[in-house]
Amino acid sequence: MSFTNCFHGRTIGSLALTSKVQYREPFEPVMPGSTFVEYGNLEEAKKVIQSGKIAAVFVEPVQGEGGIHSATKEFLQGLRDACDEAGALLVFDEVQCGLGRTGYLWAHEVYGVLPDIMTLAKPLANGLPIGVALVTEKVAAAIHYGDHGTTFGGGPFVCHAALATLDKIQKPGFLAEVTKKGEYFKQLLKTKLGGNPHVKEIRGAGLIVGIELDVPAGPLVDACLDAGVFLLTAGKGNVVRLVPALIVSEKELEQAAEEHQLRRSLARTPTMGATV
Ligand SMILES: *Cc1c(COP(=O)(O)O)cnc(C)c1O
Repeated sequence: MSFTNCFHGRTIGSLALTSKVQYREPFEPVMPGSTFVEYGNLEEAKKVIQSGKIAAVFVEPVQGEGGIHSATKEFLQGLRDACDEAGALLVFDEVQCGLGRTGYLWAHEVYGVLPDIMTLAKPLANGLPIGVALVTEKVAAAIHYGDHGTTFGGGPFVCHAALATLDKIQKPGFLAEVTKKGEYFKQLLKTKLGGNPHVKEIRGAGLIVGIELDVPAGPLVDACLDAGVFLLTAGKGNVVRLVPALIVSEKELEQAAEEHQLRRSLARTPTMGATV
């Protein structure tokens, strides 16, 4: 089971758990037996888990691709309890929100809810290709050497890069800086863009920030790229996703927000220009 607006990847198994039809459709049939429940709808999730047919529940503590939506503590705790009751595994996908992105080493830390399995990838080797599944001792006991593998898995070069990245993230003060810069950035964006009638919400945790618009974000993202600010869209294409490098400086954040690059782009964007 996974949730609406989730993104778990584009390999055939993870694709079956990724809700966006556009990603799944070209590769169908994908792995059968997956089901989607509305993100945040604990009552519905509980019902499905209690059916006894769910082996595992996959959830992003903060949805990235889906539009920068943070789970509530109640939701994750409720999933934990329902999984325990039904004998299902709880899997946190922290590929995008983990490893310091939210200001915590793990995004789920702030909720005090623990998964049985956690997936990591994207920033782990700072850009080199790596993917990891961390499992509890109990889960590990069900997997034996040689049960599952991959040709390049555990390669020493990439693993060394991952260890170097982990060292950097765990340096004293590093995560506190991420939190501080994230707060500063959100405040800057609220000051500079909050008054724009197309901006519905500015949200996020640490350095994963979303700006929800009431118009498509694509033209704004393109205009920002021309101005030297590299952004992404998210959600239903109406959210600007800002996930700067964790080592970004306050000055660079100011360049993105305070020197009005975002604001100017918002003004230049054809669908938005008239009202700015
Ligand atoms: C990027 C990402 C993945 C992995 O996606 P691939 O397209 O398979 O590389 C998995 N989960 C989340 C939350 C992601 O953001």
